[in-house]
Amino acid sequence: MIYPIVIYGSQTLRQKCEPIAPDYPGLQQLVEDMFLTLREAEGVGLAAPQIGKNIRLFVVDCTPWGEDNPELAGYKRAFINAEIYACSEETGLFNEGCLSLPGLHEDVRRPLAIRMRYLDEHLVEHDEAFEGLPARVIQHEYDHIEGTVFTDRLSPLRRNLLRGKLLNLTKGKYSCSYKTR
Ligand code: ZN
Repeated sequence: MIYPIVIYGSQTLRQKCEPIAPDYPGLQQLVEDMFLTLREAEGVGLAAPQIGKNIRLFVVDCTPWGEDNPELAGYKRAFINAEIYACSEETGLFNEGCLSLPGLHEDVRRPLAIRMRYLDEHLVEHDEAFEGLPARVIQHEYDHIEGTVFTDRLSPLRRNLLRGKLLNLTKGKYSCSYKTR
């Protein structure tokens, strides 16, 4: 099924998410549904709180970038109980958007590379390094399971300039092509 996406202003986006037990009911189906929801919304990443679930799960699908970046064609991954435990000192800016904040796009500074432990959708453990666009998307989604959204990472001045737009989101004044809640 395709889930409606939770919009900025909901407390659901502000909670630190709980680890997922191996016997979590319907986990495979949930992962599949999140990929479906993500594709329908034409995004590259989706975290469980964005569909109203307070669990440490997010999915990344870089397919929309595959045309310009052949190495990303078919890059489709699920991350369960992820823990980022190392970040590069080197940082960079990248223009981010978020399905939960339709219409907002801002340059966000983040580390260029990370190391992370996680389980994949088959509950196999991984300890892996990420860089480039995947590292960017993963950090954005990881923020979601920690209760953070990308505008939290902007300077106070920049955030202040966006105050009106953020307020409109909380009031339901926005437009987008996918189902929201
Ligand atoms: Zn997001």
